[in-house]
Amino acid sequence: MIRKRILNKEIISALEQVISKENILIDEPMSRHTTFKCGGPASLFLRPSNVAELRDIINILKDNGEKYFVLGNGSNLLVSDKGYDGAIISMGYFDDIHIEAETQICAEGGAMNSAIAAMARDHSLTGFEFAAGIPGTIGGAMTMNAGAYGGEMKDIVREVILLSPEGEIMTYSGDDMEFDYRESFIKGKEYVVLFVVIELQKGDKEEITSKMQELALKRKEKQPLEYPSAGSTFKRPEGNFAGKLIEDAGLKGYSVGDAEVSEKHAGFVVNKGNATAADVYKLICDVKEKVLENCGVTLEPEVIILGDFGE
Ligand SMILES: Cc1cc2nc3c(=O)[nH]c(=O)nc-3n(C[C@H](O)[C@H](O)[C@H](O)COP(=O)(O)OP(=O)(O)OC[C@H]3O[C@@H](n4cnc5c(N)ncnc54)[C@H](O)[C@@H]3O)c2cc1C
Repeated sequence: MIRKRILNKEIISALEQVISKENILIDEPMSRHTTFKCGGPASLFLRPSNVAELRDIINILKDNGEKYFVLGNGSNLLVSDKGYDGAIISMGYFDDIHIEAETQICAEGGAMNSAIAAMARDHSLTGFEFAAGIPGTIGGAMTMNAGAYGGEMKDIVREVILLSPEGEIMTYSGDDMEFDYRESFIKGKEYVVLFVVIELQKGDKEEITSKMQELALKRKEKQPLEYPSAGSTFKRPEGNFAGKLIEDAGLKGYSVGDAEVSEKHAGFVVNKGNATAADVYKLICDVKEKVLENCGVTLEPEVIILGDFGE
C-alpha cells in the first residue's frame, strides 16, 4: 500500500476546513469505484458536494504539490493494485439534470448518461438514445467523446462548463473541446467538467423509448454485461475492429488469472471473479503483443490506466 506525504496532518486538517470529514476517505479501495472491480487504495478519496468545495480542495492539493484524478463512474478505468498515490476526486454529488430550454438538457458533470437519457425520453427529446447504455457520467463522456451506434458526444454538445487547473470557470463550445475519436483536449489534463449543455430535438416519445430498448437489447446480446469490465478495452484501429483482430489472433478466451478476453466479444476484457489489476494489465499487454505479431497492427488501449504497474 502506498503511504506518503499526502496523509500528513496539515493537508487533512486543511481539507477538513472545506469539506466534511465523512467526505474525506483515506486508503479507499478503488475496486469499489471501478466497473472492472479491481484496483488498490487511493491515498485520499474526496467527495466535494459543490463547486466551491471542489475549487478549495484542488487549491489545497496544488498548494501541497499533490496530484489528483477526477473520477466519474470509473467505467473506463484500470487502477493499479498498488493504488493511487494522490487524491481521487469523486464527482458523485454533481448529479443534477434539468431541462434548460425546450430542446436543451443541462447536466452536472457527475450525472449518469442513463439518467440524462431517461430525462430526454420523458421530455420527448431525441438525439441521446445512442448514449443511454454507456455506463458512465456525462463528465467522463465529455473527456472520452464517448460514442456508440453511430452517435458521439461531439454531435450533441452545445456547451461545456469547465473548472480549469488554475481554478477559473470557463465555457467552451463543442468545437473548443477538440473532440476526436475517444479524445478531447481535457483528457489527461486537470480540468473538471462541471456542467454540460446538450442540444437535442423534439421527437416522438414512443419512438425514442423503442430505440433505447432496441439498443439495450443489442448490447445485452453482443456484450458480456454479466461480468465486470470497462467496455471496449482497445480503440478501434483505422479501418478495422479491435475485437476482430483479437479473435483472428486466436485470443478469444485467453486469460491471465481471472482476467479473460471475453468469449462473447473479444473486444472486451472481463473480470471473471477475482482478477487483480495486474492480471488485467498483463492480459492487455499480451493481447497487444500477440495482435502485433499476428497482423502488424498496434492496438491502443481505450481504457485509462492509473497508477504504477511496474514490477
Ligand atoms: C459495459 C460497458 C460498456 C461500455 N460501452 C461504451 C460505449 O458504447 N461507448 C463508449 O464510448 N464507451 C463505453 N464504455 C466505456 C465508458 O463507459 C465510457 O468511456 C464513459 O464515457 C466513461 O465515463 P465515466 O464517468 O465512467 O468516466 P471514468 O471512467 O470515471 O473516467 C474516464 C476519464 O474521464 C475523466 N473524467 C470523468 N469525469 C470527469 C469530470 N467530471 N471532469 C473531468 N474529467 C472527468 C477521468 O479523469 C478519466 O480521464 C463502456 C464501459 C462499460 C463498462
